[in-house]
Amino acid sequence: MTIERIVDTSVHDKDADEQVIEVTLRPQNFDDYIGQERLKKNLRLAIDAAKKRGEPMDHVLLYGPPGLGKTTMANVIANEMGAGFRVTSGPAIERAGDLASILTNLQDGDILFIDEIHRLSRAVEEVLYSAMEDFKLDIVIGKGPAARSIRLDLPKFTIIGATTRTGSLAAPLRDRFGHIHRLEFYTPGEIASIITRAAGILEAPIKPESADLLSTRARLTPRIANRLLKRVRDYADVNGDGIIDTVMTTRALELMEVDELGLDPADRQLLSTLLENYGDRPVGLTTIAALTGDEVTTIEDFYEPYLMQIGFIERTPRGRIVTHKAKKHLDKQ
Ligand code: ADP
Repeated sequence: MTIERIVDTSVHDKDADEQVIEVTLRPQNFDDYIGQERLKKNLRLAIDAAKKRGEPMDHVLLYGPPGLGKTTMANVIANEMGAGFRVTSGPAIERAGDLASILTNLQDGDILFIDEIHRLSRAVEEVLYSAMEDFKLDIVIGKGPAARSIRLDLPKFTIIGATTRTGSLAAPLRDRFGHIHRLEFYTPGEIASIITRAAGILEAPIKPESADLLSTRARLTPRIANRLLKRVRDYADVNGDGIIDTVMTTRALELMEVDELGLDPADRQLLSTLLENYGDRPVGLTTIAALTGDEVTTIEDFYEPYLMQIGFIERTPRGRIVTHKAKKHLDKQ
């Protein structure tokens, strides 16, 4: 993405401050992890069972839009299991050898978190199959006629994979996960609690009305909630006495051009362009991507999930349709 949007759900890589804040605010255990009650219930059970048996937990796949707490949950699971936690990502493991060296360096019981697991190459995925299933690593040593294959025993580890799209995961890989869970969007009430908790950690005094106001603008996503809080805190520090009240919050949101549903100018632009050009006819994803100058995956991962959640875009077999509800919202602006 070329422009860094306030409401974009990816981590702003260039913003070092944001990365520090992400780590500082990350809940460490189930009690601090707000919302996702069904997921927590299921995982608690799986953790208790594994602990009772004295075995590592079965592999876990977490899926859902970015910023909803997949990485955070993986970290919580490791803490609750009392296990070591290693982090990598699909694009970072380029060759089978990279994976072999990560796996052979694990200890019994460790948790290996693989973010964007749908981006693993086929060759790496194939090595992962037997590693996940039998804790064995098949590697080929040497080349040509002298090449021979050997089988190494691996420690008993747990993989936690995260993906925004289960559809892109090869079926054999998907089948090797004992637990597959979807993360849901949060309720405004849960987002308000996340904001209040984060404000406490950042020692930013916030009025409950402001937490409520921000909670409706954060696209039901913790990462955006924390980012909005940070911007409003900066605004209140510079333009007031640091207290985040309704006046400061409203002015800061106006400045950021985030409307009452959490849409920013880029979302509104996308919706109105689609309405102007296509009305209520379906539009293909590639056309949408061409109109906005984004990648198809950006549309699918960042714009669409929330716009569908609030009923502004509908997915049909012939393409995406902007709804009447979206039109009404735009007309109001
Ligand atoms: P994902 O891996 O799904 O992209 P993250 O786990 O990195 O999302 O979450 C982004 C940020 O949102 C984290 O730094 C954390 O501070 C916050 N966060 C996520 N889920 C929760 C939650 N349930 N309660 C409180 N804060 C959360």
